[in-house]
Amino acid sequence: MRAVIVGGGIGGLSTALLLKGKFEEVTVIEKNSSVGGRARSFKAGEFKFDMGPSWYLMPEVFERFFHEVGESPHPVIEVNPLVRVENGKLGEKGESITFHEITEEMEGYLKDTGFMYEVSLRKFLNKEMTYLDFLDKEILSNLGRIPLWESLDKFNSRYFNTDLMRKAMGFSSVFLGGSPFNTPAVYAMVNYAIYGKGVYYPKGGFEGYVDKLYQACKRAGVEFRLNSPVTKVKVDGNRVKSVVTPSGEVEGDVFVFNMDYHYSDTLLPDEFQVEREWWRKRLAPSTILGYLGVEGEMNLPHHTVVVNGDWKDHFNSLEERRLPTPENMSYYVSYRRATDENLLGRDLVILIPVAPGTRTNPELVRVALRDLEIKTGSKIQVKYSRIYGPEDFVSDYNAYQGTAFGLSHTLNQTGPFRLPMRNRKLRNMYYVGQYTQPGIGVPMVTLSALLVRDKILKEL
Ligand SMILES: Cc1cc2nc3c(=O)[nH]c(=O)nc-3n(C[C@H](O)[C@H](O)[C@H](O)COP(=O)(O)OP(=O)(O)OC[C@H]3O[C@@H](n4cnc5c(N)ncnc54)[C@H](O)[C@@H]3O)c2cc1C
Repeated sequence: MRAVIVGGGIGGLSTALLLKGKFEEVTVIEKNSSVGGRARSFKAGEFKFDMGPSWYLMPEVFERFFHEVGESPHPVIEVNPLVRVENGKLGEKGESITFHEITEEMEGYLKDTGFMYEVSLRKFLNKEMTYLDFLDKEILSNLGRIPLWESLDKFNSRYFNTDLMRKAMGFSSVFLGGSPFNTPAVYAMVNYAIYGKGVYYPKGGFEGYVDKLYQACKRAGVEFRLNSPVTKVKVDGNRVKSVVTPSGEVEGDVFVFNMDYHYSDTLLPDEFQVEREWWRKRLAPSTILGYLGVEGEMNLPHHTVVVNGDWKDHFNSLEERRLPTPENMSYYVSYRRATDENLLGRDLVILIPVAPGTRTNPELVRVALRDLEIKTGSKIQVKYSRIYGPEDFVSDYNAYQGTAFGLSHTLNQTGPFRLPMRNRKLRNMYYVGQYTQPGIGVPMVTLSALLVRDKILKEL
């Protein structure tokens, strides 16, 4: 029996490793020249860049995954401080807070979000949820402690009354593809993942993590076809028969699609497409990214979040499909040399969330860099610069409207309301990755690989 995985992102690689041993043959077909998808990396002279993730959260998920595939977990380094949050006006020094460890002020919050985290991991994240799961006895009897209908911002305001702390506890919603005003409070568990469980850095960066998966796949005998975009899906009755690439057709018994969900719909005959009204879906933001090779005086921790002006206006820009105005622009900065002294060059990544469908404006990265220097007292010389934006997400990953993170985690796109893990009409066409359950982010996508493995083996 042969399993064909379309897309070599974290979701595709993790699924390939989990299915090898259950299937005689596992083939990964990847459009790009390297694997990793949004978690890829690139090199420019002495500088190396992780193109996507920089926060390694929920280490217990990776421990479980590697245990299941018979590999040792990827080595990690603890990141300290966890994060610095800057809040103020563009081009001016403002107020800031650096989180080293749990403060007294956070104890009650972490106790309550820790409860949500533990229940979610046990009840929601380790299984493909159905509507019935909302009727679970433990969930119903704890509705007050697992707030599904309240917004994250409202929930946070019960614990913190300063603007700075509310912003510090609200920015994690951007990782979930939303804002603190439209993300359900139950996702405050991400704050527990950060402040309660700790922030880690995979040795060698996410490049090292992806390479670990890739080498493990190769050792297990997974076949890779790189530079092979799938351009068509051939169907026979209620099954996928093969996928077509420029170098030929690949047949299989089970197909797992890791490529962007919307794009896989476009490759199917009309009657088999999963979602007819894509325009109704709430997409997670795209991003404008500055990959900068730098020198100079850097007063930066590994992770910095900067909030400027009226942050609601930045979130509004995501809804209104326009770029943020510089004075109300928030951004995130990764400076991993603060943790990883072995890096030859110093790489700085500036990430500005922007609406899907917008176009890259490199000036925003320049504005953010100047602002960062002022706020942190750094003096930064840029030796290398590459700007990456929504158009690149479309051309590199076939991302619908250039979304960076897929589908946002609003209530009606959570759990059983996310896109299905199997095509409703094609019995051997499965989906894995950030569009399906449980959702966005490397740990979630790793869980999604475990879920799709279980589903395939149950339905074989
Ligand atoms: C800038 C950025 C920062 C992020 N930061 C974090 C973070 O700090 N922590 C965290 O946990 N998560 C983070 N994330 C989210 C995380 O990276 C993603 O959720 C995860 O990597 C998605 O994995 P995936 O396997 O679902 O999809 P992808 O990585 O998109 O993989 C899909 C694969 O399918 C391939 N493909 C597309 N079309 C075809 C085709 N026609 N034929 C063959 N192959 C095709 C693509 O090339 C790609 O390799 C970040 C994401 C971005 C973009």
